[in-house]
Amino acid sequence: MADRDDSVPFHALGHRQVLDGLRTSAEGLSHADAQLRLAEHGPNQLPEPAGRPALVRFLLQFRNVLIYVLIGSAVITAALQHWVDTGVILAVVLINGVIGFVQEGRAEQAMLAIRGMLAPQCSVLRDGRRRSIDAAELVPGDIVLVEAGDRVPADLRLIEARALKAEEAILTGESIPVDKGIAAVAAASPLGDRSCVLFSGTMVVAGTGRGVVVATGSATQIGQISGLLSQVETVKTPLLTQMDHFARLLTGIILIVAATLLAYGYLVRHLVFSDLFMAVVGLSVAAIPEGLPAVLTITLAVGVQQMARRNAIVRRLPAIETIGSVSVICTDKTGTLTRNEMMVARLAAADRLYTVSGRGYAPDGSIRRSDAEMGPQDDALLTAFAQATGLCNDALLHAHGNGWQVEGDPMEGALMALAGKITGDRPAPLRQWSRTDTIPFDAAHRYMATLHHDHEGHSRIHVKGAPEAILPLCRDQLAPDGAPAPLDAGRWHDTVERFAGDGLRVLAVAMRVVPPGQTVLEASDLPGELTLIGLVGLIDPPRPEAIEAVADCHAAGIRVKMITGDHAATARSIAREIGLRNVQQVLTGADVEAMGDEALADAAQDTDIFARTSPAHKLRLVTALQSRGLTVAMTGDGVNDAPALKRADAGIAMGLKGSAAAREAAAFVLADDNFASIAAAVREGRTVFDNIKKVISWTLPTSTGEAMTIVVALFAAMPLPITAVQILWINLITAATLGLALAFEPAEPGTMRRAPRPRSQPLLTGELVWHIALVSCLFLLAVFGMYFHAIAQGHSTTLAQTIAMNTMVVLEIFHLFFIRNIHGTSITWAAARGTPVVWACVLIVTAAQCAITYLPTLQGIFKTASVPVADGVLIIAVGVVFFGLIELEKQIRLSFRASHRHPPERDQGAH
Ligand code: ATP
Repeated sequence: MADRDDSVPFHALGHRQVLDGLRTSAEGLSHADAQLRLAEHGPNQLPEPAGRPALVRFLLQFRNVLIYVLIGSAVITAALQHWVDTGVILAVVLINGVIGFVQEGRAEQAMLAIRGMLAPQCSVLRDGRRRSIDAAELVPGDIVLVEAGDRVPADLRLIEARALKAEEAILTGESIPVDKGIAAVAAASPLGDRSCVLFSGTMVVAGTGRGVVVATGSATQIGQISGLLSQVETVKTPLLTQMDHFARLLTGIILIVAATLLAYGYLVRHLVFSDLFMAVVGLSVAAIPEGLPAVLTITLAVGVQQMARRNAIVRRLPAIETIGSVSVICTDKTGTLTRNEMMVARLAAADRLYTVSGRGYAPDGSIRRSDAEMGPQDDALLTAFAQATGLCNDALLHAHGNGWQVEGDPMEGALMALAGKITGDRPAPLRQWSRTDTIPFDAAHRYMATLHHDHEGHSRIHVKGAPEAILPLCRDQLAPDGAPAPLDAGRWHDTVERFAGDGLRVLAVAMRVVPPGQTVLEASDLPGELTLIGLVGLIDPPRPEAIEAVADCHAAGIRVKMITGDHAATARSIAREIGLRNVQQVLTGADVEAMGDEALADAAQDTDIFARTSPAHKLRLVTALQSRGLTVAMTGDGVNDAPALKRADAGIAMGLKGSAAAREAAAFVLADDNFASIAAAVREGRTVFDNIKKVISWTLPTSTGEAMTIVVALFAAMPLPITAVQILWINLITAATLGLALAFEPAEPGTMRRAPRPRSQPLLTGELVWHIALVSCLFLLAVFGMYFHAIAQGHSTTLAQTIAMNTMVVLEIFHLFFIRNIHGTSITWAAARGTPVVWACVLIVTAAQCAITYLPTLQGIFKTASVPVADGVLIIAVGVVFFGLIELEKQIRLSFRASHRHPPERDQGAH
């Protein structure tokens, strides 16, 4: 900025000089100033990587072996001057390219939109108040607050740091976290030694801090290094890669069959080469599943969009395949199963209990003791509660419309509301106290402590945390007259159990008076020195939709396990309300630690409640469950949850309360932190897998049936019932319509009543191979049957071939309706009603078939003849019979399977 001495870098200046140089203060910028600076410096974003030009993207669609084979055929047919065939083959190639191009664009758009939903947020001070803003709106001079788990949003010169550590591998290559502080360093220090700067893009792994923004966007260190920008992920998953390989393998086989047939026809049967060659080309084009890779990609892209609509954002595409097969979901409690809308309901102090009333986070309501309303003037204990809960607190409350909102942790918001209710001073009570030091909350030690001073020379430490963490630190307890009294630990433990048994989250609060000169707070200031004030019981009601979703998961053969940092009794009470299976047994973090891997794997299968756990236990639990062959989804929000999220088959991070570290480690992010969204994602995951299976189950038998028609005719020395060019036409019309329709299929009705699919189950199962064989045979029977029936009736070859071709198309349409319900019956009104996409495709195909059958110009080109009404009816009747046969076969198969399988509850998800 203008009035700064540009020759000295920020890291070499004292932090006050930096603030002055940037014309800002520790209270941050005003909103108006920030807007001006935003206009001057532009948004805090790195330039988007330039996308590939549209033409290149279009041409890349043709870079595919399957397409090369088609282009090769087009060239040869052109050389043989079979122009119609050349035209149709080229049309197939072109349509494929266009569909691929358009859909790839859509898929990329979907991924971009999802990236937008995950836009990073950060906490800044604006107009002296803490708020959460889009990181893109940061400007130089802003004061940013960071804590463990945050991705640093811009280059920050630190002005405050508490136990702060950052991992800077992205810049320095050094993966061991480095300590950060506020002392200036030498101007010439290399990046890794600039301990007073947090660099944009690095990760805060411990502690808390504040810093002033010194550079944004491309001016940051990371912005100056090119090539690190993350590219848009392309839609590719192991399954798709596998299918790509399969399609290529199939093409190889088809080419070998085609060459054999060509040799056989020419050398053994002495057929006319050009006719024979055209038949072989027709066969190859029909059999090569050229559209399959594109359709599968579209299926996945549609799945990604559907999940985003249900608040589950897919970060890693392969996970879309695993989420549908999970057999265990390990979920957090607070905010995922419960609403995370906390309110203090009860207080327990020395010899008395209080009940607290009020609504939401509003800092007004009454505190009652034995039905009498109490105020701080009546009771020294209440004043102590107010101080501890209001001061040892980082949350802010602000009035919003008719209600109140929390900026920060909801539990701390509830405690702040309590302090407001007691003091009657809202929304920020106890302003006479100023904080000089903090020990931030950490799930490992489960407490938070602050050191405060007031203007009259008082200094106090306030501590709040899990009762098991606080009670051992206490020397005595506060008596009603405000004097210390001996600690009655037994009674406190009983009260904790009672509160927790009622489903309350219990916190203990304590204090210590220290000499006014003390300005630094250390963990060693606490043990054996604290005076316990009492216990706070908070309610956090379960989410009604989570109760339903847990029931859905159970019906789907998925076991739900709660893994919480909360007290065992609280966890059990909530688990009961939520409807978890086994609420008798609870394993605590300590139990988990005491067990060996084998014992844990056994115990973990049957236990649904894990309480007082820390993130390290989550990792062990995932591993233990996986060792028993289970597919595990695990949720997490903190920086330390990242390893468990990575290890899980489907790691799920919280979008609202989750840290950037957790989000980046996870495969999914829940936009609303809601358990119900996990169940929805499982359902969508199953639907995607079903649809992939449906696309394949429709495409392979169809192309095999078409190809076999030619193979059989050639080998059996029969006339071709459908000419080569007509086969090409069918391929052209149906592949782009019917084949694609299945990508958009909604979930089948019973999707969440089936047991999870074993991960190892291949796509090409014996059942599918059987289906291909059955349908191809029925296709052959129907097509040849109709052809010979027409000839027997005295129809011309041209008309017989037209009838056979239309039969083939009608069969494909019926096959589509059959495939839409692979897990249930297709003979229902809902199944017949179909979807708009299905009917649009059927209409297009019907119109195209009418055109080729009845329009004189097309009749000339494709050698067809008008089909009489009676034969038209017969064709449809054959379709109905075909449908009836395959539906009957499916029903027999399904009922056989059902009688040989356990109901889902007893399947592998539940033991
Ligand atoms: P879940 O894992 O289901 O989200 P949780 O939020 O209770 O549950 P943690 O955040 O690990 O899990 O908290 C563990 C315990 O630490 C809580 O039960 C509470 O007693 C204590 N605690 C949580 N947050 C704070 C805080 N900000 N200050 C002090 N103590 C806290």
